[in-house]
Amino acid sequence: MSAPVIIVGAGLAGWTTAREFRKLDSTTELLLITADSGDFYAKPSLSNAFAQGRLPAQMVSTPVAKMAETLNVTLLSSSRVQSVETAAQTINVINHTGSRTLVYRDLVLATGAQPIKVPLEGNAAEAVLSINSLDDFALFHARLQAANDAANGLRPQVLIMGAGLIGCEFANDLAHAGYRVSVVDPGPRPLATLLPPEASAALQQALETLGVRFYFGATISAVNTAPTAAEAPGLLHATLVSGEILVADAVLSAVGLRVNTTLAQAAGLVVDRAIAVNARLQTSAAHVYALGDSAQYASAVSPLSAHGSTLPYVMPIMNAAKVLASTLTGTLADLVFPLMPVSIKTPALPLVVAAARNGLAGGWQAAEAGVWQWLDDNGLQRGFVLSGAQTAQRMVQSKRVTL
Ligand SMILES: Cc1cc2nc3c(=O)[nH]c(=O)nc-3n(C[C@H](O)[C@H](O)[C@H](O)COP(=O)(O)OP(=O)(O)OC[C@H]3O[C@@H](n4cnc5c(N)ncnc54)[C@H](O)[C@@H]3O)c2cc1C
Repeated sequence: MSAPVIIVGAGLAGWTTAREFRKLDSTTELLLITADSGDFYAKPSLSNAFAQGRLPAQMVSTPVAKMAETLNVTLLSSSRVQSVETAAQTINVINHTGSRTLVYRDLVLATGAQPIKVPLEGNAAEAVLSINSLDDFALFHARLQAANDAANGLRPQVLIMGAGLIGCEFANDLAHAGYRVSVVDPGPRPLATLLPPEASAALQQALETLGVRFYFGATISAVNTAPTAAEAPGLLHATLVSGEILVADAVLSAVGLRVNTTLAQAAGLVVDRAIAVNARLQTSAAHVYALGDSAQYASAVSPLSAHGSTLPYVMPIMNAAKVLASTLTGTLADLVFPLMPVSIKTPALPLVVAAARNGLAGGWQAAEAGVWQWLDDNGLQRGFVLSGAQTAQRMVQSKRVTL
């Protein structure tokens, strides 16, 4: 019997690859190895779950056993791949039963990215949480539950570090769910790198109307347990560089993700900001592929790197998994990304953003209320932002964009 195709990672990238592969090949052995439980959940729904009162267990859309059965996948969960030998086409896996070596025909690295940890002073720096998985969400949910139980009727306070996409989505969701929310960001405005200033200002106003307090141009330097922690267990004091102290029941860091490239680097794969892959999703080693948050796509052309860009969103995964499945089943295809607008889940002011390609020269132009077009120096439309009711224009604007 020949060696299996091994997929490492049970996030959207790992499971979508398995699903696309099975559409083309129902017999080749597929082995999926993942450090977590492998339960299938939609990660984007983590940042709008509190307002809907959803519990962590309710976030699982398909339990792992059902996924494995439906896709005819052999599963190794709670197991971590710790090394890859590309010449021998083997990996080493460790779990509670010990470590073992497995041979692969083809290997897919769908290992995701990890939250950036800002170095903080203080005796409660470790109490700062991030949410990039269902397990993270469960931990944060439990923290807020404990705060709710101790709050004597007062709504708990959440302090969010970072006013980017994830920070703003959680700010909206938690404020909507009744929490008192503050957001600290060193930049000048929410989503400063993605939105034109007017759209940013409208988002800020919409979130402030919900009760969110923003602290721009500000950075947290330390997190300590509050002196009153004996009466209010878990209460934290976050100190800003300015010296101001913000009180919080929970601190959520949403300052971005970084790919841990240690495994790929040790295997001798070319890595840059993530694992470099060509238009066929192949890494620098034969029979080794990558996609999802762990990949840097040559197909996402960028003047900033010969290896292209990372695209840590859902739509790139859907497109990449189809091409990868095709490659793995013997029909070579090149990945060409279409325009992939992202919906920002801030119901206080819904937004759709289609970012212009990295490194293009040009700028934003307001077209009409709630519509901004990104025009390059030749007057070609390369991206757009839509807000509020104008998000319905998504298709119309998409057709106008030159990629
Ligand atoms: C709160 C939140 C909201 C989001 N909202 C949106 C949105 O609205 N729209 C959008 O387009 N995108 C959104 N995103 C981004 C999107 O969800 C991600 O791009 C996508 O889920 C990444 O999937 P992935 O499979 O690449 O990585 P992950 O989901 O991180 O999966 C990685 C997997 O690899 C496993 N793993 C890692 N290392 C090893 C190892 N050595 N051995 C074995 N297993 C390993 C992990 O256990 C995990 O199963 C959001 C992200 C977050 C955090």
